[in-house]
Amino acid sequence: MAAVKHDSKVARKAPRLDQFRRIVIKVGSSLLVDSARGRLKHAWLAALAEDIGNLHGAGADVIVVSSGAIALGRTVLGMPKGPLKLEESQAAAAVGQIALARSWAEALGHQGITTGQILVTLGDTEERRRYLNARATLGRLMDLRAVPVVNENDTVATTEIRYGDNDRLAARVATMAGADLLVLLSDIDGLYTAPPQNDPSAELIPVVPRITAEIESIAGGPASELSRGGMRTKIEAAKIATSAGTHMIIANGRVKNPLGAIAGGARCTWFLTPSNPVASRKKWIAGSLEPRGILHLDAGAVRAVRSGKSLLPAGVARIEGEFDRGDAVILRGPDGGELGRGLVAYDSTHALKIAGRSSRDIEGILGYAGRAEMVHRDDMALAAE
Ligand code: GLU
Repeated sequence: MAAVKHDSKVARKAPRLDQFRRIVIKVGSSLLVDSARGRLKHAWLAALAEDIGNLHGAGADVIVVSSGAIALGRTVLGMPKGPLKLEESQAAAAVGQIALARSWAEALGHQGITTGQILVTLGDTEERRRYLNARATLGRLMDLRAVPVVNENDTVATTEIRYGDNDRLAARVATMAGADLLVLLSDIDGLYTAPPQNDPSAELIPVVPRITAEIESIAGGPASELSRGGMRTKIEAAKIATSAGTHMIIANGRVKNPLGAIAGGARCTWFLTPSNPVASRKKWIAGSLEPRGILHLDAGAVRAVRSGKSLLPAGVARIEGEFDRGDAVILRGPDGGELGRGLVAYDSTHALKIAGRSSRDIEGILGYAGRAEMVHRDDMALAAE
């Protein structure tokens, strides 16, 4: 592995932690679980929960992505050390996840925070319909000021359809939730110019303004026995996050109050995004999707969406095309002019039934309580007037 020369003078300045409004914190197994005894490190978790309580109390939304289910469960079940077969890790996760979720709920509960468990598989983040569902649940929990605690659903994920590491999972969760910061708490304090265990001249890179081929070449193999993700999956995570408008930090979690330490200026590596999550999402909606239908808005709805509101079914006068929930559609005004594009919350069959009707009537018409909006404002990219 080539050592990379790093010129700190060209590095951009790292932002401050308290300026972020939605933060995903990924906690690795080796931090939470004592590898010798396979027990959860309660004191460390309590201190991290204090940090989370501080961010949350200051108004930020927080999502935790926590590993540790397999590491905990394998001890409880008395499984030997060394690699596990797929069904063994599934069984270990089934046992460990209960303990893991309870510990998070208790630790955050002491901070007056309600916790909600979300277990996801690869399909939940990559398939559009399921992605929208998972995103809506995360969003609603945060509206209610709860902290979602997310892990991969290891009990049902199989080799072909699993993330396997929570670094990339956390990055997808961050982009899905429109987070502006992802913090990977790890057993290393950041990205070094060369693997520090082999190279005494290795230096920590404080700020990575852009992920170049050189940065990728520094990523080595897996880091420790308990966690699956090494530097490679962390760089992959940084690519996912920064291309969707989320800044990312790799920081040392092997200290008490690790988030407090970052806020106090501890060494870490920042991966900066040139964008912000809302802007990148809108760019993606405006540019890269094939629209599958057209929603014709009445004049009142045109005024509403232009003033930043969501599009309600009541404002939809006519619908063209066949589309699924989550597909991109074109929004047109009464004069036929294109207002912009959006991701529609209903498929065309259901959309036709509720077009022009009040959101209160949706349940009566469709037989289930769907979303109040036909296109949510966060899912809409309007063309300039
Ligand atoms: N989802 C796994 C667990 O909770 C951890 C994956 C990882 O270490 O990144 O045990």
